[in-house]
Amino acid sequence: VSADSIPTDKIKYDDRGLVPAIVQDYLDGAVLMMAWMNQESLQKTLATGETWFWSRSRQEFWHKGATSGHTQKVKAIRYDCDSDALLISVEQIGDIACHTGERSCFHQVNGSITPPLADTLSQVFAVVCDRRDNPIEKSYTRTLFEGGDNKILKKIGEEAAEVVMACKDDDKDAIAGEVADLFFHSLVAIAHHGVDLKDVYRKLQSRR
Ligand code: AMP
Ligand code: ZN
Ligand code: ZN
Ligand code: ZN
Repeated sequence: VSADSIPTDKIKYDDRGLVPAIVQDYLDGAVLMMAWMNQESLQKTLATGETWFWSRSRQEFWHKGATSGHTQKVKAIRYDCDSDALLISVEQIGDIACHTGERSCFHQVNGSITPPLADTLSQVFAVVCDRRDNPIEKSYTRTLFEGGDNKILKKIGEEAAEVVMACKDDDKDAIAGEVADLFFHSLVAIAHHGVDLKDVYRKLQSRR
């Protein structure tokens, strides 16, 4: 992030000089936290490449992660249509943004703790990993894990062939369905081998 990538003087700060900053994971889009910035903390963020906020309770600059080690490396900053809110995409060091130890501050649903909403592939991967770690009766995913590489890799071969056929037919609905099947079984394969979906995302990002 270069210092001139966002015009800090064009941002509309409120009557306290503050602008809300929503922080998201740059890999899966999960919303991690919301905090306040003033113009100087935004400038510090741009200059250092790590997030700096303004603590309203302590009335001081707050370098996220200064004590916890959970710093945030800035990948991109956007501001909204009327320039009064920031969206900051970060690489979250330690994969923990909340002071409670949760990955995201937005982990509360009806009193219980849940993972943050991320993109669809990540949501499906979370369910796949849950089936691997907490097997339940009558689960197709469970039968795949029980069949191991033999079963999983055979399915990937079949689904890949079905993608090829659907493309040859230019059957758009079938292409979407078969690629979905291929994605799903690929998720099962990486979960079976203990690879994280985020490692796949990192490869995709590095090849852009
Ligand atoms: P840290 O910046 O992670 O070293 O944490 C330092 C202090 O900042 C914590 O003790 C909390 O008071 C506060 N803090 C850290 N992360 C958050 C967060 N995501 N939302 C609100 N306050 C936080
Ligand atoms: Zn706005
Ligand atoms: Zn929090
Ligand atoms: Zn299929």
